[in-house]
Amino acid sequence: MISEKLTQLVAVSNRYGGDADYVLAGGGNTSFKDGGVMYVKASGTSLADITADRFVAMDMSKLSDMLNKAYPEEDEAREAAALADMMAARLPGEEDKRPSVEAILHGLFPYKYVVHTHPAIVNGLSCGKDGEKLCGALFNGAVLWIPLTKPGYILASVCAKRFNGFYEANGEFPKQVILQNHGLFAASDTVEEIDALTENIMNRIKSRITEDADFSPLTNIDIDRAERLSAELRNLYPAENPCVIYNNCSLLSLNNYIKPFTPDHIVYCKHTPLILNNIGGTGKAMADYIKCHGFPPRIALAEGLGFFAMGETAKEAETARLLFLDAMRIAVYAKSFGGPNPLPDDFTLFILNWEVEKYRVKQ
Ligand SMILES: [Zn+2]
Repeated sequence: MISEKLTQLVAVSNRYGGDADYVLAGGGNTSFKDGGVMYVKASGTSLADITADRFVAMDMSKLSDMLNKAYPEEDEAREAAALADMMAARLPGEEDKRPSVEAILHGLFPYKYVVHTHPAIVNGLSCGKDGEKLCGALFNGAVLWIPLTKPGYILASVCAKRFNGFYEANGEFPKQVILQNHGLFAASDTVEEIDALTENIMNRIKSRITEDADFSPLTNIDIDRAERLSAELRNLYPAENPCVIYNNCSLLSLNNYIKPFTPDHIVYCKHTPLILNNIGGTGKAMADYIKCHGFPPRIALAEGLGFFAMGETAKEAETARLLFLDAMRIAVYAKSFGGPNPLPDDFTLFILNWEVEKYRVKQ
């Protein structure tokens, strides 16, 4: 029975997926390999409540063949061709599921279990200006650092080269990998070792964090203005039944949280917040934002109040809220690792273009 084989995979997925220190919203993914088949999380599924039937069974040899293939240089053409090959690597009967874009990367680890998460603690290091240097010093080279790379096929091919380099230097493939501005991979033949490796990484990084994120609310806020802005945003938001969540949050008096640190921040919060001031009013600000970017904002900042998270549904708004808090947390943690190093604008644009396309498709 396949579901029996995946019992441990489901359990470890639910455990990490249900822990906000590791995974928020639909983030992260897991896999298990057995007899030339890899079972990897399907897109659109969250680890917290995934069941055995939401893993895609894939032919490992077809996946590894992809790494020796020449794909187009151009981003869109390359990713479309790679996606088609990834779909073709699904076993018969799996056609209704779409593997995560990180499936090829999972296949690179010659270990049974792979757990990929986005912990804010790890991203404090991975989004720090001195992250790479300090990662080397903290873990004595046992944790492989992957520099910032576009997601998708490109990331898997960069990792393949780095994994081989790691093998040449260490006589084994890496079990712990930190992706710059992204997150953590832990791999092993046993779930127990994945837990031990992950705990060690979290504890060591935590021990170097000198400033905790303070989300205490502002005092003496103008609550009437907060309520008025909430109502205006709800009226202006281009959706039938939008949701706006107000967050009274003091961290925003600081100014360096407005750039995304990881791809998730772009996907769920968009690349830039709407700035609310009293010039021109909320209506003009919203119209200008949509005209300029082609989609509505997910986060609005109001000096002296905090931020508003919004979306077409309550879930979309709440996810934006959680991810924006995550970005702020990372910005604070990164101060302990040379200072915050958000995603460069060209990288952000690359991610955003995919998102704009998706939005257009949806409209
Ligand atoms: Zn990821």
